[in-house]
Amino acid sequence: MSIFNQSVKVVEGKTVLLVPKVSIGSDLIPKMPAFYNIQAKLNRDLSIIIYKAMTRRFSEYVKMADSLASVGARGVRVAVEVPEVDKVFMNDLNPIAIEYAKSSAEINGVYNKCSFSIQDACHFLIEHSTPRERFEIVDIDPFGSPAPYLDCAIRAVRDEGMVSITATDTAVLCGLYPNVAARKYFGHSLRTKYCHEIGIRLLLGALAHSAMRLNIGIHPIFSHSTRHYIRIFVTISSGASYADESMGSLGYILHCFKCGNRRASLVINDNCEECGKKFKIAGPLWLKEIHDHKFLSYSLNMNIDLSKRCKKMIEMAMDEVEMPPTYYIPDKIADDLQVVTPSLNKIMDSIKARGFKATRTVINPKGIKTDAPSPLIVEVIRELSDRYDKKI
Ligand SMILES: [Zn+2]
Repeated sequence: MSIFNQSVKVVEGKTVLLVPKVSIGSDLIPKMPAFYNIQAKLNRDLSIIIYKAMTRRFSEYVKMADSLASVGARGVRVAVEVPEVDKVFMNDLNPIAIEYAKSSAEINGVYNKCSFSIQDACHFLIEHSTPRERFEIVDIDPFGSPAPYLDCAIRAVRDEGMVSITATDTAVLCGLYPNVAARKYFGHSLRTKYCHEIGIRLLLGALAHSAMRLNIGIHPIFSHSTRHYIRIFVTISSGASYADESMGSLGYILHCFKCGNRRASLVINDNCEECGKKFKIAGPLWLKEIHDHKFLSYSLNMNIDLSKRCKKMIEMAMDEVEMPPTYYIPDKIADDLQVVTPSLNKIMDSIKARGFKATRTVINPKGIKTDAPSPLIVEVIRELSDRYDKKI
């Protein structure tokens, strides 16, 4: 019996995808016969926007590699929804997954602009690592850690091209296994309330390490996360000065578990200036911007349909540019204080009224970023909740 008897069609964006029936409606998605996660649609929606904005930088033939393509959900969507991409290469070790990708490409009439291969992802990428063969855009979206693929991805992308990476080993990146993070990402993770931002910065730091060894620098364009994955988009630039710039973007985040104070630092041996307790350390990791305001502004102004959610996420990312590299979760602070959480807008207004900056963050819908000291944030939340208590 053909595998396609056990398949269903789903629509993502403007694309029809043929996927295994068993991957729909189940919390635990099986890897066989081929993996498809409908929950990752948002991840792919955002990719389409960023890739589309990226293609304006290329005047010649544009090639995109979906190097761990599975059923080709991202690759086929790019072939359909980003017409500026001339050729999409979909690769996966699972031959059944590639059969699904081929069928979806046929259904959408884009078979001729797609190329399919069944290889180990690194093997596939290395085959495309000579100057003429390199891709304008390389995507890495494995089961678990992308760490084994970082070097190959950098080698297979052309100068001024883009690498996008998904990491689903969030437990490692978000502080549950700091030693594993150090081994895979060259930096310790830390179990803080803002651990997803640490995860993003560790992944960027690891990619920078891989690039720097090849005299290449990285430039983050957009980063986001959910509870289950971390996602980054970066462009690369060839040259020792760019690599030096990346090296200068690495450092540490120091966190005080007694009072919640935290800051970026280039040194690791320090005590909390608020309470005197010794800081715990995350890193080395990427300390500079994780979004590019100008690029994102351009992507919002392209003449394409944007879902409200994607638009909101890109706007939030733009707002948090130039803010500190960590965020606060007022809900958690209010829990510790045993008070009702005031609205995020009220908290931000109150922080701004005291002369500090405050924004939302795309990394966590319940988070806020601010340059105010941590005791002030606690004070604001306590004061606002007092007023709320008096009202009722
Ligand atoms: Zn402290």
